[in-house]
Amino acid sequence: MENKKSLFDKSQRELEEFCVLSGFKRYNARQIMRWVYFYQTFDFAKMTDIPKFLRDELMNNFHTGLPAILATTYEEDIKGYSKKYLIGLKDNKTIESVLINYNDGRKTLCISSQTGCKMGCAFCETAGLGGGRNLSSGEILSQILLISADIKEAGLGPAPVHSGRAHGSAEPASKITNVVFMGMGEPLDNMVEVEKSLNIMSDNNFLAIAPRKITISTCGLLDKLKNIEKFKYKIAISLNASDDITRNELMPVNKKFPLEDIVNLINRKKPSIHNKITLEYVLIKGVNDGILNAKELIKMFSPSKVKFNLIPLNKGKNSIFLKNFERPDNDAVNNFKLKLLKAGFTVTTRFSKARSINGGCGQLTAKTICSR
Ligand code: SAH
Repeated sequence: MENKKSLFDKSQRELEEFCVLSGFKRYNARQIMRWVYFYQTFDFAKMTDIPKFLRDELMNNFHTGLPAILATTYEEDIKGYSKKYLIGLKDNKTIESVLINYNDGRKTLCISSQTGCKMGCAFCETAGLGGGRNLSSGEILSQILLISADIKEAGLGPAPVHSGRAHGSAEPASKITNVVFMGMGEPLDNMVEVEKSLNIMSDNNFLAIAPRKITISTCGLLDKLKNIEKFKYKIAISLNASDDITRNELMPVNKKFPLEDIVNLINRKKPSIHNKITLEYVLIKGVNDGILNAKELIKMFSPSKVKFNLIPLNKGKNSIFLKNFERPDNDAVNNFKLKLLKAGFTVTTRFSKARSINGGCGQLTAKTICSR
């Protein structure tokens, strides 16, 4: 791999430029990318519809090596299984991705966008690692490629029931059906590489994951959401508090982008049944889980524009960063949910999968792994 660049870091436009500069056609780039992402064939020699000279050029300039899976942990329940992957990058930094495989065939992959996080949320273990580096678009896409290959090899789980695949062919059982940027890092703090990866992920000829099945979760970097009307992907904002005093304490980002700005941004957006913004709300006992908090949320937001995703706090084994925060009991969670439901909101409760393997929300630190 010496001096060669990773092919996975190239956008379609960059690869088109390479093809033209090498004396070939722009459309060859799409052909190459179809081999790599749609068929997941990484050996240039097998790309039989690509001219031999171009294949040689590719081989001389690019590698198609994926990062290494260093360890995995696995957990099953009645709804399916989750598997957490520790992935080693070329500079020995590590990240984690979590596959949640439902028995109905849905395969949701929770991916990382950075090797740590500098946002400093007080309840999140990834934040405890401090700021890491941005992942390249290839490193983001590699998580999908690696884990699809792992599913194929292990024969894990049934095929998805519905087809979103190009040319109407059946979904292979290894197909990742949904992607959520809810792993390590803040995706909007790495906008350039995240966008580059999204273009390839959502292209029907490449990874063919429909934009409505891709969720970008942000702590609220609102300057990156100015064009929210034009976003084709799902947006989730981690709200986590119903007043600025609490949110300032939990999430330093609130000092720059306070609750009022989130409310204004959301209210500016036209209502859309199919693309409501999800407000994620980590429930922490005695901090933000009271009925008064639910009432404040009801005053601030409209059921026509947002839905709520409640996440009872996950506490990992290495929760130094979580200070004295506790998970509320189930009654408190249900009462909070009921209050929002009665006000007309759609509410889901995310009893994070993979908790016993520290793969739940906010538990990814890329160091708490034991081999399967
Ligand atoms: N940086 C992004 C995405 C990563 S976190 C963001 O902030 O949205 C994904 C979700 O997990 C966020 O909603 C976050 O609030 C939540 N989360 C973080 N730590 C958690 C914990 N200890 N328990 C439960 N949810 C947590």
